[in-house]
Amino acid sequence: MYITEDQRVKTHIERAVVVGTSATLTLAEWQRTITDFGGMCAYCLTKPFAVMEHFVPVEIAGTHVKNCVPACTGCNGKKGLSTGDGLVNLFGKETIERIASYLHSRKEGDGGDNPLVNRTEDCNNNPRSLAPIIEGDAVYSPQQFARFIGYSVLTLQRWDRQGILCAYRTPTHRRFYTHQQLTAYFEEDKTE
Ligand SMILES: [Zn+2]
Repeated sequence: MYITEDQRVKTHIERAVVVGTSATLTLAEWQRTITDFGGMCAYCLTKPFAVMEHFVPVEIAGTHVKNCVPACTGCNGKKGLSTGDGLVNLFGKETIERIASYLHSRKEGDGGDNPLVNRTEDCNNNPRSLAPIIEGDAVYSPQQFARFIGYSVLTLQRWDRQGILCAYRTPTHRRFYTHQQLTAYFEEDKTE
């Protein structure tokens, strides 16, 4: 089954979100990783890669630029959930050190701009652009938010495009709004 790298990243980001670990890998970072291994499996370096492999299991280390490598199905299956000495026994010290030191050298954002998370120009530049989300703040779907403020979802989409009122994005690019935005909406004298 064919899967785009965009879908692959999203799937693994979702896995990390579900298990509550770091979920920051971007498409650009991942594409650079694939390129760095020449499209081959990071373990055997002889077969084309087929899957995204978490060097340390996703439940522990998440889907992160310092934890994801391309692997062939053979090496992925062989590796299972092994870590540490278990890995060295399976693949040899040299291979594991090579991959560990490669991952160590990577930095968040080193893949360059990621088209996946690029916002519209307006939302990037607008002085009312997005504040960090307050922990525990309620979040609303566009449908809920539209109902609260008495406008349609289409209007919200337009405001988002125009940078008038920007939506946040989940890792899978779904739009949402926060309670803070709702409060701010009613406090500000809104002009289009
Ligand atoms: Zn392999």
